[in-house]
Amino acid sequence: MQSKKTAIEKFKTGAAKPLNLHQLSNELIDGSISALSKCITLVESSKKAHKAEAQKIIEKCLPHTGKSIRLGITGVPGVGKSTFIEALGKYLTSKGKKVAVLAVDPSSSLSKGSILGDKTRMNQLSIDPNAFIRPSPSSGVQGGVTNATRESILLCEAAGFDVILIETVGVGQSETDVYHMVDFFVLLMLAGAGDELQGIKRGIMEMADLVLINKAEGDNLNPAKQARREYQNALHLFPPKNSKISPKVQICSALNNEGIDRGWKTIENFASETKSTGFFDLQREKQAVTALHHSIRYSINQNLASNSAIAKTLKEKEEEVSQKKTTPFKAADTIVKMLLK
Ligand code: GDP
Repeated sequence: MQSKKTAIEKFKTGAAKPLNLHQLSNELIDGSISALSKCITLVESSKKAHKAEAQKIIEKCLPHTGKSIRLGITGVPGVGKSTFIEALGKYLTSKGKKVAVLAVDPSSSLSKGSILGDKTRMNQLSIDPNAFIRPSPSSGVQGGVTNATRESILLCEAAGFDVILIETVGVGQSETDVYHMVDFFVLLMLAGAGDELQGIKRGIMEMADLVLINKAEGDNLNPAKQARREYQNALHLFPPKNSKISPKVQICSALNNEGIDRGWKTIENFASETKSTGFFDLQREKQAVTALHHSIRYSINQNLASNSAIAKTLKEKEEEVSQKKTTPFKAADTIVKMLLK
């Protein structure tokens, strides 16, 4: 009987031929979706050897990166993120743009499923030849979930995607991580859903370049307009943004495709304005440096956990510190010296 394994499954299980990294990167740079998928699978692998191969590919791709607009999209579950991404994605592909959708959900794992795990949430976009949708990597990724997403962005750019949408779940650390990898941050909200900030932390509001009040249609239109005024007032109280561009508040109905074009115009204006002031490139440079520091911290933590002698000493030092037998500084010094040996 013929094997039902897909190419990617064979590749994951090592049943396929050895990879020619040079050829794979060239195919990716030529825009091959299958090469892009394979490379992201390497980036997301839990195997060290795959991670090393992925790094070689990314280095080769780097000169071809940087030309997209990277958008972060967040909001509580049910606010309409998938519907909005589908509407915006279709709008953009209808304008001839290539759109990639990635997700960040550090809590997700293959068994638990993930946001975007169900591609049927984006019915039309998932069959659009100019769109590429990739669910959140699982938590066992070599190098960490957020690093994997950062690297996937670079691969999508090298493959020629013009707009990269990164969806995140609006409730935790992942927003801050995503904020550090995008040019523009969109926060989706609902009108009249009780608590003014709907569980969205103040810090997340502060990150937003655009607050979009979704489901603004029918009976919900007036409450949405009222919410727009309230958020506009609330945003005035926040410190000015580094971009020097004040955040916008708009209404939309992702379901009815209303307000999508206005939202996109805002994003385009932001990009052209920040490119002319130099902020756009400066922010990306800073983000690359942030990624470096993130990787260093991640790598140190991995070494702490994987070296049994260090892990044992760390446990002892935790005990000593909590019992006030030594200072955190002195204990840290001992651990760092062990790491550097
Ligand atoms: P997510 O969890 O944030 O990704 O939200 P979904 O996109 O899955 O949407 C949650 C529900 O809200 C679905 O039933 C959507 O059809 C609905 N929805 C999304 N956008 C709109 C909208 O603009 N208007 C209305 N009325 N419903 C919407």
